[in-house]
Amino acid sequence: MATIGFIGLGNMGLPMAQNLLKAGHKVQGFDVTKAQADALVASGGTAAPSVKAAVTGAEVIVTMLPAGQHVREVYLGPDGVLAAAGPGTLLIDSSTIDVDSARAVAAAADGKGLPMLDAPVSGGTGGAQAGTLTFMVGGSDQAFARAKPFLEKMGKTIVHAGGAGNGQAAKICNNMILGVSMIAVSEAFVLAEKLGLDAQKLFDISSKSSGQCWSMTAYCPVPGPVATSPANRDYQAGFTAAMMLKDLKLAQDAAKSAGAATPLGADAADLYGRYVESGEGPRDFSGIIRFLRDR
Ligand code: NAD
Repeated sequence: MATIGFIGLGNMGLPMAQNLLKAGHKVQGFDVTKAQADALVASGGTAAPSVKAAVTGAEVIVTMLPAGQHVREVYLGPDGVLAAAGPGTLLIDSSTIDVDSARAVAAAADGKGLPMLDAPVSGGTGGAQAGTLTFMVGGSDQAFARAKPFLEKMGKTIVHAGGAGNGQAAKICNNMILGVSMIAVSEAFVLAEKLGLDAQKLFDISSKSSGQCWSMTAYCPVPGPVATSPANRDYQAGFTAAMMLKDLKLAQDAAKSAGAATPLGADAADLYGRYVESGEGPRDFSGIIRFLRDR
């Protein structure tokens, strides 16, 4: 069994670290919020007082942080992961961040001879708790082979997407599809309402027709057709609108720097921006149907 340093024990990181503990690994966790580290201790882990302490003596480091700036600080800072890690320590960043930061940090790790993977996830807090996350992984074949047994304790589907940054590329492409498709499905339900077409009827037809997609059949934005969708609990998140906006902005930044045309992705970022500005950032992202209905 391995000693794992886990940094960032929030909504996603804590249950992921708990699954590593359940698998028999030793986990030394660090979070700037003490209550989060205390929750890890209650599950059998240890609380490290700093990034450096979490990294010292660990053979694998997993980070699950809010955004690119936190990942740069935690890895590249004077007492950060790269400064503290022993030779050969495997580094896995599962945060959703911009491709450029992911590649810059991986290059700095490589410069120190440390193998690093970007391994963002989809599946939300439910998937993190159940250990059924999908990992999209960027980095070398050797690092991927070493990481896989650990990722399998936290997830069900583990895909090697290519070199450094490609995990993040896959994540933002996927979430751009999701943001655009949620708006498309929501617009269709609003139009159906105005045309006097019952929402359940539209669902019965579209879920079996060419309009079928995950936003329709797994996460339907109107109450009723899909019992587990947040629409049935006043759009309590789930996956917040603020997080969707973050991912759509990352996709737009990447599209600009790569020179890709993503006009619907741009419109989706704009609409989610206005939805979040209306005060609904903590609401589930499928709540955008209410914003569209009110326009
Ligand atoms: P969160 O805000 O709940 O957790 C982040 C944690 O990092 C917090 O506990 C915070 O205190 C800690 N932190 C911040 N800076 C730190 C530092 N310098 N050192 C140590 N700890 C630090 O966020 P989350 O929902 O767990 O999301 C984490 C990442 O996973 C994000 O990048 C998010 O986009 C991604 N993600 C989230 C979901 C979801 O449904 N919540 C799904 C897929 C991906």
